Amino acid sequence: MDRSRANDDPAWGEPVEQLAKAIQNCSRCRLAGTRTNALCGEGDPEARLMLIGQAPGEKEDRQGRMFIGAAGSVLDEMLDAAGLARDGLYMTNLVKCMPPANRPPARDEVSACLPYLEKEIEMLDPRILVPLGFQAASRLFLQYGLDPPAEGKFSGVCGRLFWSGQKKLFPVYHPAAALHNPALKADLLRHFRKIPVLLTTCKWFRLCPMRRFYRANRLDPSWIELYCKGDWQSCVRYQMEEKGAPHPDTMLPDGSIDPALER
Ligand code: URA
Repeated sequence: MDRSRANDDPAWGEPVEQLAKAIQNCSRCRLAGTRTNALCGEGDPEARLMLIGQAPGEKEDRQGRMFIGAAGSVLDEMLDAAGLARDGLYMTNLVKCMPPANRPPARDEVSACLPYLEKEIEMLDPRILVPLGFQAASRLFLQYGLDPPAEGKFSGVCGRLFWSGQKKLFPVYHPAAALHNPALKADLLRHFRKIPVLLTTCKWFRLCPMRRFYRANRLDPSWIELYCKGDWQSCVRYQMEEKGAPHPDTMLPDGSIDPALER
């Protein structure tokens, strides 16, 4: 990764507006020569949720706004279905300028642009990063020390929550993928509907033995991050609790028993 740069530029202040200015004037790669607008992210600077697309398309390039083309219509439909409002989240792109002819961004273009995304993440410190599509997801996985998915295996990580020890990542298909392959739309909908769950904590957490074990340093924090403060809907303990089914205190969120917790 190219770390020479903008992050060290004293002209780059904290507020998002200053970052936007730096992006608009950027000439760090060849895309500066073909773009109309370089797009900083937009939305709520206090957002707990950050969506990360690939790069602006033609309409976005012309008008300088995020996700206003066909993929944006799919995205709006997904956000609506999930009860999420654009102005309550922050959305940005892996690459801030449109690659010509809508080609995928080249590796060096992604590297040149990455400092801007890093800065956005640092400034907003969102609770969950939602990379849209393979390119954004793989780059963020690498960034956070997670094994990136192989290109043909992206579906295996979509709609699953990952915890790097620092950040939560919840990769989903790019909305444009549903335009090319409408069969993906149902999954995309299901994944977007999971996002509000990830932004809340399990209602049983205060009473759950997992919290007690965690506070006593007897439980790997990833259980808490991935389930209790993450996808608690998928926690076997939660599901059993909802049915009133008895379960041992030593049962982990995935339903396995940790005998070490018995001691
Ligand atoms: N696709 C993206 O990934 N980002 C946009 O802003 C528009 C389309």
